[in-house]
Amino acid sequence: MVTEHAPAAAASAASKPDQDSLVCYFQGDYVRLGDAKVSIMTHAFLYGTAVFEGIRAYWNPDEKQLYALRVKEHIVRLRNSSKIMLMAELPSVEEFTEIVLQVLNKNHFQEDAYCRPSVYKSTQAIGVKLHGLTHDFYVLAIPMGDYIDTEKGIPTGTVSWRRTSDVSIPSRSKITGSYVNPAFSKTEAMLNGFDEAIVLTADGHVSEGSAENLFMVRDGTLITPSVTDEILEGITRAGIFEIAGYLGIPVKERSIDRSELYIADEVFLCGTGAQVSPVASVDHRAIGDSRVGPISKQISKTYFDAVRGRLPAFRHWVTPVYKSE
Ligand code: PMP
Repeated sequence: MVTEHAPAAAASAASKPDQDSLVCYFQGDYVRLGDAKVSIMTHAFLYGTAVFEGIRAYWNPDEKQLYALRVKEHIVRLRNSSKIMLMAELPSVEEFTEIVLQVLNKNHFQEDAYCRPSVYKSTQAIGVKLHGLTHDFYVLAIPMGDYIDTEKGIPTGTVSWRRTSDVSIPSRSKITGSYVNPAFSKTEAMLNGFDEAIVLTADGHVSEGSAENLFMVRDGTLITPSVTDEILEGITRAGIFEIAGYLGIPVKERSIDRSELYIADEVFLCGTGAQVSPVASVDHRAIGDSRVGPISKQISKTYFDAVRGRLPAFRHWVTPVYKSE
């Protein structure tokens, strides 16, 4: 136990002074991240009864401008996640969006960043339930670069764990406790030598990555599992639909067999953290010629231009939050 904890503690101590002085929103105020603390008796800590979002903000070095990506869409999903968890009473989408933009703005980031708003059960009590508990929310932001490789294509593998079914824990709600499931998948994949997991549903269809949605290309058509295949209804996934429309690439939502991935022309993962991440292989089968395929390349280029506010057709995706002198 002690040896497992030691490296993590050392790593966090090294990065602590800077991180502690970042600005976050906590209990109704903008405070230092180092001062935002909850009791170990907090229900969300005891049982994972919180919901969250991950929002990226991109630094545009030419304009010296930080752009937040699709904040409103994330807040709408956060409110839906909260509703599923019986935490419906929240600030409006506009008020919540403003708090996210304020947190990003107050940190004066001049690099890519990641913002996490979360709504959590704040009652300090033992007892497994969702009803009759208080809730609160926080918003934090930290600097963050690429989460997985976005250029050369990554090796992936299917895992023995199955994506939690919506009849066990709602798939379309980003519930903190439910992330133990993708954590098992990601770790199994990585310990088996892959960069990312491909997770199947209980009936063996492809669901998604550990924290990414999945697309494959067959005969020029983009295909992705439908929202009833235990996926998170990804905001990047919806963005890929929009990009595909812009580029004139047909898209189909349908169930995907694992073996279809082995013979797909192209496969890529997408998500706020992962962005657009081409897949080089699945279970040791090369995808295409193991290099990033032409459709993935086109989509990826459009995505990375869009998120930094460089494409007029996608300006509605970004909100300017901070400009340096
Ligand atoms: N699936 C899961 C399980 C995730 O955690 C994420 C990341 N939020 C995604 C898919 C991708 O969703 P989004 O594009 O909204 O970030």
